[in-house]
Amino acid sequence: MILSAQSLSHIQSCPRRFLLESDWIVLRIRPKLLFDACLRQGLLDLSNGADAAALAASLKADFLQVAANPGLDLPHGADSYRIAKDWCAMIDTTLRAMAKWQTGKLRVPNPERLNSSSEWRTLSFMDDSAAGMLHRVITVDRWTEDQFSKELHSWYTFGDICVTSKPMTLHVIEIGQTRGGRRSSGWARGWKHPAMRNTKLKFLHKDGSTFQGWTAVYLADHAELDADEWVEQMEREGATDKLTRHLVVDPPAEPVREDTLSQVLQEAARASRMLTERRSIPWSALPMSRAACDGNVPCPFQQVCHQQGAEIYKLGLYILRDKDKLAAE
Ligand code: SF4
Repeated sequence: MILSAQSLSHIQSCPRRFLLESDWIVLRIRPKLLFDACLRQGLLDLSNGADAAALAASLKADFLQVAANPGLDLPHGADSYRIAKDWCAMIDTTLRAMAKWQTGKLRVPNPERLNSSSEWRTLSFMDDSAAGMLHRVITVDRWTEDQFSKELHSWYTFGDICVTSKPMTLHVIEIGQTRGGRRSSGWARGWKHPAMRNTKLKFLHKDGSTFQGWTAVYLADHAELDADEWVEQMEREGATDKLTRHLVVDPPAEPVREDTLSQVLQEAARASRMLTERRSIPWSALPMSRAACDGNVPCPFQQVCHQQGAEIYKLGLYILRDKDKLAAE
C-alpha cells in the first residue's frame, strides 16, 4: 500500500472519493489545480538550474494544451481562453520570482517505508542540505492566520514532516482573489495612472492606498509587455516580497510524531482493506460524505456521485487509471 498526503486526505474526507480516485482519472481539472501543478514542477526544475523564461514557456504550453483538450473544469459560459491566458501570465511572473528563491537543489524524496506492507510517498521536495529540508509551494488568494493553521494541520505539511522527520519550508504565494473573472494581484494585474499613461506600471503604493481611479492592466492582454520587466518593477516596489512568504515548520516532539505515524498506519490498513474489498464493496456502496462535496474546491466526482444511476464510463469526464490492472483483479 502506497499512501500519500493526497490519498490520506481523500480517505479521511470521503472514502467514496478515495476509491474513485484510485481507479479513475478526472479529465477536466480546475485551473488553479493545474496552475499549482505547474508551480510545483517549476520549483523542482528551477532549483536544478532551469532557465525561468524557457521553463515558463514550456509550462504555459502544457497548460494551454490541457485547456484545449480535454479542457478545464469551469462554470458554464466562462471564457475559458481568457481564463487560461490569465493563468499563463501568472506562470510567467511567478516563475521569474521563484527563480530567485534560495532553496538549494531539490529532488523527489524516495518513498519512506512505514511497515512491511505500507509506504509513504512524500509529495514535498527535499533539498541537498545536511538537514534535508522539505519544500512545498502553495498558492492562496490571501494569506491569513486561519490559512496558516489549515496548512500546518494538513497531511501535506504535517504528514510529510512526521514521516520524514525533516523540517519543511512552506513557500506561499498570494495570487489574489478572483474579481470579474480575473485575478486581482500583481502577478496578473498592474495599474496605470489615467492621466500619465507613459509612466511605468505600478503595483503597490508606499502608503498602502488603493488604485481607485487608475486603469487596470492585465499582462495577459498585452503581448507587447515583457514578463521580466513586469517582475522587475514588482520587485522594485516590494510587491513580490509582499505577495510571498517562506515559513519554516519544524518536526513536532517525538511522542506527537510517533502518535501521528501510528494514525497513518491505521489509515494505511483501512485503505488497503478498502482496495482489496472494492469488488464486493464498490465506491457506490459506501455512504456519501456530503460535508466533503463542496469544500474550497468542489469534489470532481459530483457528476457521478450525485446523479442516481449515472454510469461513470459513459459520462466522458473520467478515464480508467489502469484498465489492465482492474481487469486482472
Ligand atoms: S461527490 Fe461528495 S460523496 Fe461523492 S465522492 Fe465526492 S465528496 Fe464523496
